[in-house]
Amino acid sequence: DALLQLHVRIARLGTRFIMILAEDRTEAHRLDEVRRDFVANISHELKTPIASVSLLAEALDQAADEPPMVRRFAHRLSSESSRLARITSEIIELSRLQAHDALRPDELIDVDDIVAAAVDQNRIVAEARGIEVAVKAKSKAQIYGDPALLLVAVNNLVSNAVSYSNDNSRVGIGVTCDKGIVEIAVIDQGIGIVEDDLERIFERFYRVDQARSRNTGGSGLGLSIVKHTVQNHGGEVRAWSRPGRGSTFVIRLPEAPQLPADEPATDPLR
Ligand code: ADP
Repeated sequence: DALLQLHVRIARLGTRFIMILAEDRTEAHRLDEVRRDFVANISHELKTPIASVSLLAEALDQAADEPPMVRRFAHRLSSESSRLARITSEIIELSRLQAHDALRPDELIDVDDIVAAAVDQNRIVAEARGIEVAVKAKSKAQIYGDPALLLVAVNNLVSNAVSYSNDNSRVGIGVTCDKGIVEIAVIDQGIGIVEDDLERIFERFYRVDQARSRNTGGSGLGLSIVKHTVQNHGGEVRAWSRPGRGSTFVIRLPEAPQLPADEPATDPLR
């Protein structure tokens, strides 16, 4: 009887082992597909600006005797190459994040400071369009993570909020901390996102409307970078929207563990 039970247990273990192997292979297959898609998307995204750069260089060559044309083409050449440079660096950033090698979560970060820096980076563009950026970031919340990556993520949300806002409207940004969860909310009164698109905006290269996004110089990678960064920090990002009324993006991150009040970290005699 005991021998039979042993056989049954071994058989069960065997089946489980095979199931784990099968799961592993499915996961490997999925990752392989994701990687292939990524490469296909990258080549597609890079082809257009590269083609533009080469056409513009040719046009520049032919317009050599007409200074106003030369200036126009040179200007477009410069903006196409900046776009190319931005897309390339975003692709590199994203693949680093996806390879999970980017995060060294050992720095204590003041979230309010990161948010203030992200707002500063968007201030000039917002002011030029009469957009008021109102910030409430006095949470004193701290998290462990990579400050440069986190700044890129918050900056992407703020810069989207400004880009997709109407002129002379308002963008609200707030940081709160409650029960060990830090929340960064970015709220705009812009064009909004319809529900079908809302489910897909965090995908790589996804843009709601190609023409609209290209006008803003977007690559469709910004929110994907936000998602991966936040996930690498043990958090999540969510979006809500009412088309024509505005959108809200919220990042949630685990707060850095607090030291007990009776053990001040700065007391050198301890
Ligand atoms: P992009 O570089 O095109 O802005 P993102 O990944 O940052 O790429 O965003 C994906 C798409 O989601 C954008 O193309 C845009 O259509 C939509 N989107 C992002 N943020 C907002 C927002 N605050 N309001 C309206 N649409 C937005």
